[in-house]
Amino acid sequence: MANPLLQKYAEMIVHVGLNLQSGQRLLVRAPIEAAELVRLVTASAYRAGARLVTVLWQDEQIALIRFQNAPRDSFEEFPVWLPKAMEEHIREGGALLSIYAEDPDLLQNEDPELIGIAMKTGAKYSQPVSKLIMRNATNWSIASMPVPAWAAKMFPELPPAEQTEKLWDAIYQVCRIKTDDPVAEWKEHVRQLGARARYLTEKAYQAVHFRAPGTDLRVGLPAGHLWMGGETTTEKGNTFIPNMPTEEVFTMPHRNHVDGVVRATMPLSYGGKLIEDFSLTFKDGQVVEYQAGKNQDILKELMDTDEGARHLGEVALVAHSTPISQSGFLFYNTLFDENAASHLALGKAYKFTHQQGSTMTDEEFETAGGNHSLTHVDFMIGSAQTDLDGIRLDGTIEPIMRQGEWTFTV
Ligand code: ZN
Ligand code: ZN
Repeated sequence: MANPLLQKYAEMIVHVGLNLQSGQRLLVRAPIEAAELVRLVTASAYRAGARLVTVLWQDEQIALIRFQNAPRDSFEEFPVWLPKAMEEHIREGGALLSIYAEDPDLLQNEDPELIGIAMKTGAKYSQPVSKLIMRNATNWSIASMPVPAWAAKMFPELPPAEQTEKLWDAIYQVCRIKTDDPVAEWKEHVRQLGARARYLTEKAYQAVHFRAPGTDLRVGLPAGHLWMGGETTTEKGNTFIPNMPTEEVFTMPHRNHVDGVVRATMPLSYGGKLIEDFSLTFKDGQVVEYQAGKNQDILKELMDTDEGARHLGEVALVAHSTPISQSGFLFYNTLFDENAASHLALGKAYKFTHQQGSTMTDEEFETAGGNHSLTHVDFMIGSAQTDLDGIRLDGTIEPIMRQGEWTFTV
């Protein structure tokens, strides 16, 4: 008999996250440590009417072995068939689930340049499939679960047997699984996020302005920007939740209208390393100066990905009083940490955050203020000290958040 919380979690992933439709196929990408969860997800998917569930097992140790043993000039090799298979699956209407769990320090002793090449190569070949995903051509979702190295990183003071248990406990807590009726709880939560997104969209602010210690940043918003939050809708009209958990309401910045300085409030796990204590200075949308207390070279690799990696593709608002923030944990995992605080993303903007985005060509999207890049990396800038204003088209300034909390109710 499966652990009842794990069973509930699997049901949430299938029914709330993916909102899997009867008759759909499901493709799952998961680490080998996730076998128990993936089996429960698979059973739940078939009960929901899935026609076929296929699992692509992953093992991050294989990636580490590559860095340690493969020829140095081989890091532009890529299994091109893999994103092609995913593309075919999506085009045929299949749903996509990723179980994202990794050791944040996996590649800490490896060469940053090789890490940069490997990440960039993966992003390049995955571009057609990531475009389909960004367009919400199908329902897709990302959820997580503990792996031992990650749990050890989070709870080094505990004996190994208790680390994983403690991380599961934290995940159940922040994913609202430990409530009497998680599905009802999620429905209300998602309704609120959607209502906040509609409120902000109707305001049609020309910019938002962040103020916090080390931060004074004006983020311009293009005409036609769309705030999103909670549920997303596929091209065929099915709702789903891309990230479990989700706490954010987000839109696209104007790629050329971001000015000022912003200080990150949490470390950023990127390419297997942690970038810490960093701040970025923007002028006309571009990062013109940056510094990091630790792993500045990795931050540089990230921004050297391409021209668009020095511009913003997302601005997202998260209240400080939400469960992840309140847990006080640094998860070293963007899926959780990006929902702990308001954040920005370097790199590509989502076309669905513009009212006409889905019908725009890449050129039209860029003209409208959308940013193109191979990468999209979120970093946290919000805290209990964050104040945020919206600037109307006529210049009127309105408060959106004070001390990290929303100023309006929905
Ligand atoms: Zn986000
Ligand atoms: Zn993002």
